Amino acid sequence: MNDVQPGATHLECTATGERFDSEALHTLSPAGKPLFARYDLDALRGRFTPESLRGRRPDLWRYAEVLPVRDPAARICLGEGFTPLLDAPRFADRIGMGGGRVWVKDEGQNPTGSFKARGLGMAVSRAKELGASAVALPSAGNAGSAAAAYGAAAGLPVHVVVPRDTPRPIVEEIRALGADLQLIDGLIDDCGRVVKQGVEEKGWFALSTLKEPYRVEGKKTMGYELFEQLGGRLPDVILYPTGGGTGLIGMWKAFDEMEALGWIGAERPRMVTVQASGCAPMVRAFEAGASFAEPWRGAATYASGLRVPGAVGDFLILRALRESGGTAVAISDAEMAEWVAHLGRDTGVFAAPEGGAVAAAAARLRASGFIGSDDEVVLFNTGSGLKYVGMEPV
Ligand SMILES: *Cc1c(COP(=O)(O)O)cnc(C)c1O
Repeated sequence: MNDVQPGATHLECTATGERFDSEALHTLSPAGKPLFARYDLDALRGRFTPESLRGRRPDLWRYAEVLPVRDPAARICLGEGFTPLLDAPRFADRIGMGGGRVWVKDEGQNPTGSFKARGLGMAVSRAKELGASAVALPSAGNAGSAAAAYGAAAGLPVHVVVPRDTPRPIVEEIRALGADLQLIDGLIDDCGRVVKQGVEEKGWFALSTLKEPYRVEGKKTMGYELFEQLGGRLPDVILYPTGGGTGLIGMWKAFDEMEALGWIGAERPRMVTVQASGCAPMVRAFEAGASFAEPWRGAATYASGLRVPGAVGDFLILRALRESGGTAVAISDAEMAEWVAHLGRDTGVFAAPEGGAVAAAAARLRASGFIGSDDEVVLFNTGSGLKYVGMEPV
């Protein structure tokens, strides 16, 4: 798609519905909640169709009509998206899926080895298009290296703040990609405070999860891809390792868009949030029937992408789980490591611990009957195991 696109028509507060101009840089809404980009889907209906995607390049920019970046020259591409959806028959047998099928969406094959490339590729492209002069973010690790990569490709300075115990391969990656890196004794929320200071004092534009509107637009492309790669349908169950929840929220948004575009009906996959036993604020809130999640104290897990004590999109995650008939599951680090090994032997994918968590959750939910033996199930492996070499389960 090399045409200039109309982009979003406006931004909308996910809590109040209040509208904002999409052609200016925005962070959270005045209500302190995430903003969603909205498109003229009525105008796209019948023109932006699954058939219209044929022959387009296999990266996430193939969905340009429902993405915010207008100018093709502003789309910074390192090959993100359109990762393989791998059939996993031996894993399916292992967990007792009689007639059903299991696929692994291998997001570890993205640039910088994780699906953070989708969100940061979009957010950095859009921030540059809207005139940001420097971007910054707190990160548990993978978002930092993705931001560093897209900043380097865009020629935009990037400031990354990560916990000191972030996996070493990720720290070295961020440095090699030329970002300004600060290591902090603390968790991602402590890193957030350092970024806030840079925003106030140095005019950085912050790309924190869901605190600007476009990372979720990059991540939502996973929903469009599932539909395309399954030949025009969605699976019964999607298991997603949830930190800030951008991917789950993004796919849920994509499904609504696809319905408005006439691609699908009202049916939805059951969405499953998978977290670490040592940091499971969404699981706790889901089980309590709460609409918002209390921050988790003393978060500890070697799955750094899941070490997120509080999420600004908590209510969006919980709503998607409930509306879809989904659930939430917590997995210990030891189980993650065990299921990284099972998944590796069964599929050839060396998964991140987050992928191991999802594999363990699939087994548990199959055993409990939540996943039926003839369900079609997609497991998200969100990163490459190579980025965690040297990290020990907590
Ligand atoms: C960031 C990250 C997650 C969590 O993603 P969210 O969209 O923030 O929920 C899961 N896995 C890996 C490997 C990550 O880097």
